[in-house]
Amino acid sequence: MTGLTFRYVALTDVGLRRSNNQDSGYASPRLLVIADGMGGAAAGDLASSATLSELRELDRPLEEDDGDALDAMRAAVHRANARLAQLIADDPAVEGMGTTLEAMLWDGEKLAVAHIGDSRAYRLRNGHLSQLSVDHTFVQSLVDEGRITPEEARVHPHRSLLLKAILGRDDFEPDFTWLQPAPGDRYLLCSDGLTDMVDDETIERLLKLETIDEAATELVREALESGGFDNVTVVLAEFVPEDEPIDESLSCADGRPQIVGAATDAPRPRTGTVHAVTPPPLEGGSSVGEPGADELDPEELRYAPQPVPSRRWLRWLLGSLIVLGLLGGAAAYAYDWSQRQYYIAPSGDMVAIYRGVDLDVPGLRLSQVDRVTQVEIDTLPPYQRDRVEAGIPAADRDEAQRIVTNLSIQVSDPVLPPRTRAPRPTDPTPSASETP
Ligand code: CA
Repeated sequence: MTGLTFRYVALTDVGLRRSNNQDSGYASPRLLVIADGMGGAAAGDLASSATLSELRELDRPLEEDDGDALDAMRAAVHRANARLAQLIADDPAVEGMGTTLEAMLWDGEKLAVAHIGDSRAYRLRNGHLSQLSVDHTFVQSLVDEGRITPEEARVHPHRSLLLKAILGRDDFEPDFTWLQPAPGDRYLLCSDGLTDMVDDETIERLLKLETIDEAATELVREALESGGFDNVTVVLAEFVPEDEPIDESLSCADGRPQIVGAATDAPRPRTGTVHAVTPPPLEGGSSVGEPGADELDPEELRYAPQPVPSRRWLRWLLGSLIVLGLLGGAAAYAYDWSQRQYYIAPSGDMVAIYRGVDLDVPGLRLSQVDRVTQVEIDTLPPYQRDRVEAGIPAADRDEAQRIVTNLSIQVSDPVLPPRTRAPRPTDPTPSASETP
């Protein structure tokens, strides 16, 4: 029996709303990878490109020490996680960065697969599309519990909120599995910049185009024509009998790896602040309407909320206007307005949602606790702790809740029992009576 091999192509576009590409994609005769970075402009591309560079180590003949392809895949994913942990330790400004990962390694007979996050793997077999990966998202958990339908999930306001990603933390749980390709199968790995914009029916139709190069081009084009809100990356593979002559017009005819997106950029110098880096305009990128500093970008919020220092002055300005409004007789209106605002701040040791404005005005109570959450401030990464202590404004209660959910998935030690908690410097010191 003739063995199988595959044709491949990787393609990305920055999209129509973003100025830089935080996706990384890779395709070669052995390896297919998509990583969708998160955590702000300067950190998301670092996370996805660092992860891809660890995964690329797999693009070689396996050795005995590697075990099988799935063992090798597991080891590479763990190395990627450790690499992010190291990058964060080296530069706390990038804390909160992370990446999704969809990766397939070919051992000559079958595919070893790793999946974490909401990048997806699809297979087109006998003209029928199936989604192979299960999104690690909040809305997917609602679908699994039967609380919403997949159709509702597609348009849910919190659809991009991730429950799992590679974040450089010990507690990450990717899915690993084997796949058995058949001749004629086409596999698609893609970032959510495709699937948020293009439905499965259209993906199926475009995957059936004559060549994978055409299919990849049309998938990306379709995402852009549907709005192109996010970076869009596709990696495609088509399995064929090993002895089938290659179509010389295919981009993979030269047999060389294809690498696209953030991983192709030169590393940027780290400056100590995520936001001090202005990404250079990308060739071919048509940035029309990058979200402004004060405009919340749901895509960023889902992963690692951006610091919003520029809002502090706004809050003070609005607070001052309330006071002026109260003095000026527009008291009822100003007070009513203030009570429709929300923010997140500490209440004792816990994270709480407040209604009102975070402002001290003598004799006036402009805010009150709306809800104390289950999230302990001390369990948050330092960067998020600082944000909560400074107060994180939210446009409404839903947004406040979303910020809290996002914080809660970054909790470092959610189940640490009180007895084993390490003493902190502020804890009372043990009695000195034992000291001689
Ligand atoms: Ca994305």
